[in-house]
Amino acid sequence: MNNSKTSILAPGSIIGILGGGQLGRMLALAAARLGFITYIYNPSANCPAAQVAAKIIVGAYDDIAAIQKFAQSVDVMTYEFENVPSATAEAAVALCPVFPPKIALETAQDRMTEKDFIANKAGVPVAPNHTVDNEFDAKRALNILGDKIVIKTRRMGYDGKGQQIVETDDAAMAAFKDLGSVPCIAEKFIPFAREVSVVAARNSVGDIAAYPLIENEHRNHILHKSTCPTHSDDGQAQAYTIKILQALDYVGVMAVEFFQLADGSIIVNEIAPRVHNSGHWTMDAGCTDQFELHIRAITGWPLGSTQPLYRTEMINLLGDDVQDWLSLAKDPNVKIHFYGKSDIRKGRKMGHINRRVS
Ligand code: AMP
Repeated sequence: MNNSKTSILAPGSIIGILGGGQLGRMLALAAARLGFITYIYNPSANCPAAQVAAKIIVGAYDDIAAIQKFAQSVDVMTYEFENVPSATAEAAVALCPVFPPKIALETAQDRMTEKDFIANKAGVPVAPNHTVDNEFDAKRALNILGDKIVIKTRRMGYDGKGQQIVETDDAAMAAFKDLGSVPCIAEKFIPFAREVSVVAARNSVGDIAAYPLIENEHRNHILHKSTCPTHSDDGQAQAYTIKILQALDYVGVMAVEFFQLADGSIIVNEIAPRVHNSGHWTMDAGCTDQFELHIRAITGWPLGSTQPLYRTEMINLLGDDVQDWLSLAKDPNVKIHFYGKSDIRKGRKMGHINRRVS
């Protein structure tokens, strides 16, 4: 079996998910609603997805033999995070269909490859950028790109980690060292008016479905609130998203994060080749939710409706926020989604709420 373009999986088929966090959990719940069986592969048995899946297979992500065995036991494989090692994806692809495709993983894992692909292959604007492989590159990037730049590690950065904003030559050189003297990218600092995203899916026959534009508010570099629809024009962001999906011959849900400037124009910040935190509002907005949309896309099903019936805002519950569960439960306007994490830590995503707004 290989990445067949035509196969449609019937209910009862087995979906394998690499990663057992909250995204894996919500994927497993959506898969179960459609009658699929889910196996989770995760480095530990105690994970949010294991509580709701048919089976948990414990293994390291770079244990190729264990990954091969897992691939042979499922009808299709997907993942809930983009840092799946390339060799792991390669080993799995030889044994079962793996969606989203490996090229999407490889593109999203390296910020330089990602920016290059989006700008030059998909033809979608990104922030002006420059490679930084040493301290002198960092200084040069500041001189080329302008008064203020963001230096980011090319790999493994998330939630604002692995990046620094700099405005002087000395700070640029110091930032490269502080970031670990690893390959970096420098981007022009974009004085955006707001951050927005599009969550969309493509299936193997090329059908595409996109939710309306989502407005995102971050606190301490972590997503705090997402609201959709935004009462603004969605067209350009959706058109850019479609170009990226097509350029990657993508199958599954993808999120594209954008900066919107004061004049309304948008540029891509980054892509996530998976279901995304800014799409959690879909779970209670009366349309197909993003987890079901992903399961439909990877199993060859027709994509459902992405048109929300009402405006919804999603608020993340971080760390101790989750202790308020009883008062949240008393609010009839709030839909609660807890992730089943027993260990409460500051800033850890413990759950989210969705609320219908006008
Ligand atoms: P990232 O990990 O690339 O998504 O960056 C995390 C956050 O840092 C973004 O959501 C923005 O708020 C901010 N940021 C990243 N890159 C830039 C940039 N080029 N200009 C301005 N702000 C940025």
